[in-house]
Amino acid sequence: MANAPVQRMSQLMAKTLRDDPADAEVLSHKLLVRAGYVRRTAAGIWSWLPLGKRVLANVERIVREEMDAIGAQEVLLPALLPREPYDATGRWDEYGQELFRLKDRKGGDYLLGPTHEEIFTLLVKDQASSYKDLPVILYQIQHKYRDEARPRAGILRGREFLMKDSYSFDTEDEGLAQSYALHRAAYQKIFARLGLDYRICAATAGAMGGSKSEEFLAPAGAGEDTFADCPNCDFAANTEAISYELKPVDAAGVPALEEIPTPDTPTIETLAAHLGVQASATLKNLLVKVDGEIVAVGVPGDREVDMDKVEAHFAPAVVEMVTEADFAERPDLVRGYVGPQGLGEKVKYLADPRVAPGTSWITGANKEGMHAKNVVAGRDFEVDQYVDVVVVQEGDPCPNCGTGLKLDRAIEIGHIFQLGRKYADALKLDVLGQNGKPVRVTMGSYGVGVSRAVAALAEQTADDKGLCWPAEVAPADVHVVAAGKALQTELALDVSEKLSAAGLRVLCDDRAGVSPGVKFTDSELIGVPQILVAGRRAAEGVVELKDRKTGEREELTVDEAIARLT
Ligand code: ATP
Ligand code: MG
Ligand code: MG
Ligand code: MG
Repeated sequence: MANAPVQRMSQLMAKTLRDDPADAEVLSHKLLVRAGYVRRTAAGIWSWLPLGKRVLANVERIVREEMDAIGAQEVLLPALLPREPYDATGRWDEYGQELFRLKDRKGGDYLLGPTHEEIFTLLVKDQASSYKDLPVILYQIQHKYRDEARPRAGILRGREFLMKDSYSFDTEDEGLAQSYALHRAAYQKIFARLGLDYRICAATAGAMGGSKSEEFLAPAGAGEDTFADCPNCDFAANTEAISYELKPVDAAGVPALEEIPTPDTPTIETLAAHLGVQASATLKNLLVKVDGEIVAVGVPGDREVDMDKVEAHFAPAVVEMVTEADFAERPDLVRGYVGPQGLGEKVKYLADPRVAPGTSWITGANKEGMHAKNVVAGRDFEVDQYVDVVVVQEGDPCPNCGTGLKLDRAIEIGHIFQLGRKYADALKLDVLGQNGKPVRVTMGSYGVGVSRAVAALAEQTADDKGLCWPAEVAPADVHVVAAGKALQTELALDVSEKLSAAGLRVLCDDRAGVSPGVKFTDSELIGVPQILVAGRRAAEGVVELKDRKTGEREELTVDEAIARLT
């Protein structure tokens, strides 16, 4: 492979910034913008500048190598997709507001692919005719499009983002288990090579459907997932996968809410007793369905409601669910009310003239109990069923061994699914079996958030000075800094050329008119693992080699430095 030419900072299309972007909430967003890796083009839509593109390409390369190693074949399918296959599986509607839908000039319906199960199923249907053509694993590294409700958090949650998605096709269940195991092992290698700290957690299948599913979660405060980890055994699960146990209750046996003692005695336990469900320390929320439709989720008043989470779980049934803020702006949306459960609030809203007559008014439970006076189930609205929702909390017993669980925030960097025959059934994917009869194919789907991994790495590795990349993903191996005048610049460029000739990727800060102090600060912000400074002792041919992560520095002759780095 040809050596990469020295990238001079004087010519680099990237300006570092002193201040955090005003809209940035998380560290990776702040640092990737400030260090000149990415720029925001629109909400949740990002441009990658040269340094960012290099890191992204490194992640892509690692993912590609490990996918190729398990025999997966790379393809590239379109991102602009026709509606029909998504109608066949029901996802044109089910995907809800996250799906970007558009029309062509003739009025035909299209979408921007959020994930590609349908299209891969059809590809294999077209290409494979016999069991001999299977098993097969196909993958692509491609932009995905999801109209995320709140695209905050920068690169972590884009509306356009880069994903590696792969799909396995087998005739037997054991084959699927094998394809799944191959992916699981490949993901372990990928994330280890990336230098990410991660846990494999039991997960729910969500919009994908299917049976077994696991997530690769990278612990980080900026993460939007919470996982429970057992300090005693190997149990680890996204709290989503263990927190919401839906237990339908026969409506006939449900008392009118006003019969529930209030306000002196009611507690979660009294409510649970009335509903005939198991009360536990973790029974936190009440979910109510009316006419088969979830219209409200009662949420404890003393806890902030993560509406994204709630909506993600119950979408699309809860599209009409509103928060207090929505209520003020869009009273026409109100079918139920989610928010503080205090009686005073209820009375206020019920009395509000903006609430359309006939609006179903649902209430929930909180720590202090029901606040349900005014409102009678079965009289004021039809109750189909009550369902209790269990939320796992820190210290709750591990389902395996009973030890108190630890909860942590994490970023979902990968997700693997055994889909089974859901998509093959919908799109009639069969191959001829050994006995000459058609066999329905069973599938898996597997995703890595390639662009998200860049941000997750930034979150996990950055320090108070800036980014701090692991060697394999860094935008360069060495950042050479010319700290001084012409003499230093000359030496810096000379050393850079030698390092480049030895096969290293070199970034050289040869900018004129920029002070050494600013260059040092920038080198720390940019986060290349090794920093080589041509400074005070350049005339003697002495440079300083600094380890970005440990901060350790050492004065060396040019030859020693080159020998050390190559
Ligand atoms: P999330 O729970 O964060 O919304 P998801 O469960 O919807 O993610 P999947 O459908 O499992 O995502 O997609 C596979 C992978 O794609 C995820 O594990 C994640 O790494 C990545 N990913 C998903 N949504 C985004 C996004 N909006 N921006 C960047 N990466 C994403
Ligand atoms: Mg999502
Ligand atoms: Mg998820
Ligand atoms: Mg997922």
